[in-house]
Amino acid sequence: LTKIDVLDKGYVRLVDTYGDELSIVNAARVSYDQKSESLEDRDRGLLKFLVKHEHTSPMRHVFLSVEFNAPLLVARQHWRHIVGASTIEAGTPFSELSRRYVRDEPEFYIPEVWRSAPENSKQGSGAGIKSEYSSHLREQLQRHVLSSIEKYESAMELGVAPEQARLFLPAYAMYTRYLWTPSLHAALNFVALRSAQDSQVEIREYSLAVERLIEEKFPTVYEEFIRGM
Ligand SMILES: Cc1cc2nc3c(=O)[nH]c(=O)nc-3n(C[C@H](O)[C@H](O)[C@H](O)COP(=O)(O)OP(=O)(O)OC[C@H]3O[C@@H](n4cnc5c(N)ncnc54)[C@H](O)[C@@H]3O)c2cc1C
Repeated sequence: LTKIDVLDKGYVRLVDTYGDELSIVNAARVSYDQKSESLEDRDRGLLKFLVKHEHTSPMRHVFLSVEFNAPLLVARQHWRHIVGASTIEAGTPFSELSRRYVRDEPEFYIPEVWRSAPENSKQGSGAGIKSEYSSHLREQLQRHVLSSIEKYESAMELGVAPEQARLFLPAYAMYTRYLWTPSLHAALNFVALRSAQDSQVEIREYSLAVERLIEEKFPTVYEEFIRGM
């Protein structure tokens, strides 16, 4: 299924979907004890009506399972979106790769462009700084990462457990992989908040990629959702 590259080494990948636009229509038609066998124009009209008037419950009968490969600075913002995911009963809608068990080389987010501090703190960040400063900072971060990895590995050579040796790794920049399984309603809530202009640039890139997945699988819903934004 669809995989979209994000940032320098990240991606989102659609792993699975549960239900489609017809499922949403039929969840809505239950109240009239009716069912559509295939998605016709009148069903598309109903989908648009549901989105436009925020009749959200039919959108909670379908799910997407999306694999994220994202730096922790993105993940920790994403993990605040806890409502409406299929595993919420277990306390968390996310399943994450564990560095206690997986020993592959960690990867780190090294931005090309470094953004200036904003004039208004609510904006988060401003335009890119001078390109020579960006190159310098990029090189500094690369060096910092390499020296951290050396310390991480030498701790393990001393017999330290990976779960503790990782204290040497620069966590904000480190990529982590996890599975997110929200209802379509929850996914649209994520997109509404994180594709917005006041969202941090990095998570915004992921949110825009999630939009592409939603558009591919739920085109009518997506079209109406975007119209209402
Ligand atoms: C630009 C931006 C800046 C942010 N800055 C900060 C920050 O500085 N510090 C910080 O801690 N967080 C921050 N957040 C996180 C934000 O407060 C939310 O926790 C996060 O966006 C998840 O959104 P959500 O609550 O809508 O998602 P979900 O947790 O998935 O909730 C979905 C919806 O369910 C409803 N809901 C959720 N919980 C309850 C409840 N207990 N009772 C009733 N209804 C509920 C709400 O309608 C909510 O929109 C920021 C978010 C954004 C987008």
